[in-house]
Amino acid sequence: MPGFEIFGAEERKQVNDVLETGVLMRYGFDGMRNNHWKAKEFEIAFAKRMDVAHCQLVSSGTAALTVALASAGIGAGDEVIMPTFTFVASFESILALGAVPILVDIDDTLTLDPKAVEAAITSKTKCVMPVHMCGSMADLRALKAICDKHNLILLEDACQALGGIYEGKPLGSYGDLGCFSFDYVKTITCGEGGAVITNNEKFALNADHYQDHGHDHVGNDRGAETHPFLGYNFRISELNAAVGLAQLDKLDGILKTQKENYTMLREALETIDGVTFRRVPEGGEENHSFLNFFLPTEEITKKAHKALLEAGVDACFYWYTNNWHYINGWEHLRKLKSLGNISSEVKNQMQDLNKTDFSKSDAVMGRTISSLIKIGWTEKQVNERAAIMKRILSSI
Ligand SMILES: *Cc1c(COP(=O)(O)O)cnc(C)c1O
Repeated sequence: MPGFEIFGAEERKQVNDVLETGVLMRYGFDGMRNNHWKAKEFEIAFAKRMDVAHCQLVSSGTAALTVALASAGIGAGDEVIMPTFTFVASFESILALGAVPILVDIDDTLTLDPKAVEAAITSKTKCVMPVHMCGSMADLRALKAICDKHNLILLEDACQALGGIYEGKPLGSYGDLGCFSFDYVKTITCGEGGAVITNNEKFALNADHYQDHGHDHVGNDRGAETHPFLGYNFRISELNAAVGLAQLDKLDGILKTQKENYTMLREALETIDGVTFRRVPEGGEENHSFLNFFLPTEEITKKAHKALLEAGVDACFYWYTNNWHYINGWEHLRKLKSLGNISSEVKNQMQDLNKTDFSKSDAVMGRTISSLIKIGWTEKQVNERAAIMKRILSSI
């Protein structure tokens, strides 16, 4: 899902606009900035593209999750339900606020199992955080019904699914809040950056203040602004925002190429006995940044993954044993290894992750392989890749 594949003249031009004035900050310095407001411009364009009322840019996807949770009033002791298969940022953002991550099983969508979510709800639950992993979405209709019934916030982590669609809405815009990452390996990149989107005016205003030390952003004298509540610094710089602005223009082209390459690869693998594909909930369309497939058993999948790597098929992932994305690898979380003391709420309320049964997630993840879809591949390269993958998977 790599915007980094197409860094070019457009990005350089946007960055140069900022370098020429030297105003690297998104707020203030009105007289010096020659009317360049890259972060503001990106926010307006991104909100429009995502079909929402508000966008708040921040310094990373992890910051976006933290700011989104804080904006919805989530704090110490509040429980946030998240999946076992995700990026470490999910629990990092929750723990940063003193809130409690509650991990639940995924299903064959590779995202939150709605039944597991409902079973994990307690009187302390405040938020459900589906993570649209590897280009496709959770069953948002089912999750929204659960959230409505129990009066919970639905926060979509769409960091890996920018451009995907569910029931006609861009992913990230369906829940109360949606989060994106523009780190270097995401669909579009700012170098480092992230965004929170929402149609909720109060959450938007909270996010605006919270990510900039609680500044109210009223008037144009930054030194005289008041602070209605405590905040932090999760600001994006103008340089990063400038890169993102150029990349956003390329998003639709990236999605189109991803879909073409994905389709060629999928058509080749579909003919193989024993290969099945990740379920996309009805009404959803992936962003095609990964092709995710299942093999019949864990043993076969391990063998196949090894054989694919040995045959030079790069960018194929077996997440089950990868220490970034699945609970198996998160020893630091399971043992709550932290530099300082962990708050008593987290200690008391967190599951004992060493003892919790995640066999349902294991049964899915143990059989999952994901191939990244690159946009720089030529048709010939995609066909070659498909042929090698087909040969190896058929023989196993
Ligand atoms: C990349 C990613 C994040 C965090 O983004 P950063 O910008 O790297 O902090 C969060 N969630 C998911 C699912 C991601 O893939």
